[in-house]
Amino acid sequence: MHLTKCRLSFLLSLTILVIAVEGCAAKDNRDNRPWDVVAREVMVDRQIKARGITDKGVIAAMLKVERHRFVPSALERLAYGDHPLPIGEEQTISQPYIVALMTERLKLKSTDRVFEVGTGSGYQAAILSLLVSEVYTVEIIESLADSAAARLDRLGFRNVYVRCGDGFLGWPEKAPFDAIIITCAPPKLPDPLVAQLAEGGRLIVPLGDDFQVLTIYEKTGDVLKKEEIAPVLFVPMKGIIEQ
Ligand code: SAH
Repeated sequence: MHLTKCRLSFLLSLTILVIAVEGCAAKDNRDNRPWDVVAREVMVDRQIKARGITDKGVIAAMLKVERHRFVPSALERLAYGDHPLPIGEEQTISQPYIVALMTERLKLKSTDRVFEVGTGSGYQAAILSLLVSEVYTVEIIESLADSAAARLDRLGFRNVYVRCGDGFLGWPEKAPFDAIIITCAPPKLPDPLVAQLAEGGRLIVPLGDDFQVLTIYEKTGDVLKKEEIAPVLFVPMKGIIEQ
């Protein structure tokens, strides 16, 4: 009886040991890759693909760009969560899904030149830079423009041009743009940006003040075709538009 008990408990311990070792091995296999690579895969599977984003280029860019390098170091581990995060100066880096959605809806081509209003951390610009030939981005807060420019340079995004200024005015010397993305919310569409959009070009914007709707426009001659996509919440556009 005693022997059987001993044997039983030995077998039980052995089983637990085997399960524990197998568990560790499985964990090791997964964790042999850096945490951020795994985190990006999970982000893309659960937040991006699961919500219907299918564009292969957008998905590849979201897997490649190291989002944790675009947030304050104390928040690195939260960088792949399903939410926006603070980046200082009371501004935010957008939720990953919104970045993917806005990028997909622009239907970008590798030869496109894109203009962005609201550089913020530079993350959206980095995603765009992998999909198009040139990205021009303007940020109204000097400290954010400086840190985003330094970050993009350090990380090797060579086709992104950052300027500090009011994005309401666009970047006339570099216009027309094949696509324009506004990542802060204006109460109405800025006229200079419509003028700087190329024929056949697309412009995506969270339009509104208290209540914003993500809206996409396509320019054909003098006509702007408009489509409302979804309610969203972005920081308000500052500067000239407030006057
Ligand atoms: N695209 C950014 C997030 C943008 S947050 C990213 O990927 O991190 C919105 C940004 O728009 C803020 O940094 C804010 O300072 C900037 N902004 C607000 N009004 C602006 C304007 N008129 N011109 C340029 N940038 C503006």
